[in-house]
Amino acid sequence: MSTPSHYDAVIIGAGMSGLAAAVRLSMYGQKVLLLERHNAVGGLNSFYARGARKYDVGLHALTNWVPEGVKGAPLVKLMRQLRIRREELDLCPQLGSRITMAEKNLRLNNNFNDLVADVAAAFPQHVDRFIALDEMFMGMDETALEASGGSARALLDEKIGNPLLRDMLLLPTCFYGSAIEDDIEISQFAVMWRSLFKEGFARPFIGVRQVVRLLLDRCREHHVERRMKCGVKRLVVKAGSVAALELDDGTEVTATRVYSSAGVVETQRMRSDVEPQASASAIGRLGYAETITTYRADDFAKFGWSDTIVFFCDAEQFSYRSPAELVDPRSGVICIPNNYSYGEGRKLDEGWLRVTALANHDAWCQLPEVEYLAQKQAWLAQLNAVARRHLPAVSNAVHDAALTSTDVFTPRTVRKFTGHLNGAIYGSPVKRRDGRTDLNNLFIIGTDQGFLGVTGAMLSGISMANLHGLKN
Ligand SMILES: Cc1cc2nc3c(=O)[nH]c(=O)nc-3n(C[C@H](O)[C@H](O)[C@H](O)COP(=O)(O)OP(=O)(O)OC[C@H]3O[C@@H](n4cnc5c(N)ncnc54)[C@H](O)[C@@H]3O)c2cc1C
Repeated sequence: MSTPSHYDAVIIGAGMSGLAAAVRLSMYGQKVLLLERHNAVGGLNSFYARGARKYDVGLHALTNWVPEGVKGAPLVKLMRQLRIRREELDLCPQLGSRITMAEKNLRLNNNFNDLVADVAAAFPQHVDRFIALDEMFMGMDETALEASGGSARALLDEKIGNPLLRDMLLLPTCFYGSAIEDDIEISQFAVMWRSLFKEGFARPFIGVRQVVRLLLDRCREHHVERRMKCGVKRLVVKAGSVAALELDDGTEVTATRVYSSAGVVETQRMRSDVEPQASASAIGRLGYAETITTYRADDFAKFGWSDTIVFFCDAEQFSYRSPAELVDPRSGVICIPNNYSYGEGRKLDEGWLRVTALANHDAWCQLPEVEYLAQKQAWLAQLNAVARRHLPAVSNAVHDAALTSTDVFTPRTVRKFTGHLNGAIYGSPVKRRDGRTDLNNLFIIGTDQGFLGVTGAMLSGISMANLHGLKN
């Protein structure tokens, strides 16, 4: 048998964290192998083509947008570490988003002062407490690797003391970054406070493809070896380290260090010294369904739908948990990717409406195929109807005549294309902030390290590469 190839670093998964870690390590001359089981890069935030139409799988917004010239912000650090110039990202700021619940609206429009003004108008008794909370979070290093947990819900009850304002603040922060039911960890909440409230949303004109393209260019530049449709089947563990990696194609490689973005439980279950069903209690439960609808651009422009993102809750209390039914339509996120400032002469070819809501993985997976397809159509209609109640009215006849395509994905789709158990978007509720495992050369990056979202995942790949691969 031939000797397995040896690498300084093998990275499991070519999602945002894996790509960023690969760029960072290879930039310093390390020999890097990037392995991806799927045929596309990008992981949870990838894209696919149906005919001539390119669908972004997930991107609503790149968070942490700051105007040019702002120093020290996470996005600025990220670009510097990956040697990406701002203009290369082609970031276009949003037109304006909002949180809506109990007939109150709070603006999220890349201007924190507008949010403060809305809190003052809707919750005059509580605005001082809201400002004090902001001061507390801004004095905190929310990305510190030793950052502790604790319940943001309890903190909001203590510091703000208004259940509706608490729920309105939990609504976007949970949907964009919590792996815990009905709550979010304080340090993660502080990260989201900065990324959603203080900084804001932007989108490259061509969506996530722009980010993926740049990361792939950097990988090529620094000679990262990338193997697609080639997953890691087994991590051979000997004497407290990963001694070899067995790949789906039957070959074996060895590595000084292994970085996995597959998820903490998913990675553990690849180990030769661990039972295949280990750590079931640490698997995340929060999955989403998302509908995507496209419209003829000229007709769409007449709808008057000017929001970029609407975080809505139609129930009296915000519930963020895996629903008993297939989907929980009482709260969710409406995103209209057309509503970014793309600049003179640039507009998307079609109108787009995306609606995201909590969904039950097991319930979707138990459906026979015919029923699965039928339920996708039923929920497409239902979620779009819910979303349209939060947008200026358009008659069914006008709406339906403008429609050009629809698509829906469920937690089953997420599991199939990313391997995340339960299709859990934000992975396990148990995070490994320092990326370490009990094996001395195996590290967790991405979702289960604890920095979430596209920006967070890239920062995770960078910081874990810096800490474990470049510092010593
Ligand atoms: C619908 C949806 C909408 C979203 N919207 C936004 C948004 O608007 N803004 C935002 O910031 N974030 C958004 N996110 C979240 C964001 O996409 C993720 O947090 C981020 O992309 C996670 O990156 P990651 O690298 O940690 O993990 P992943 O993207 O999950 O990457 C892991 C990769 O590992 C691969 N893999 C798994 N097992 C193996 C194996 N054994 N061998 C080889 N490869 C393997 C998987 O195929 C996958 O490609 C959204 C997510 C979804 C699903």
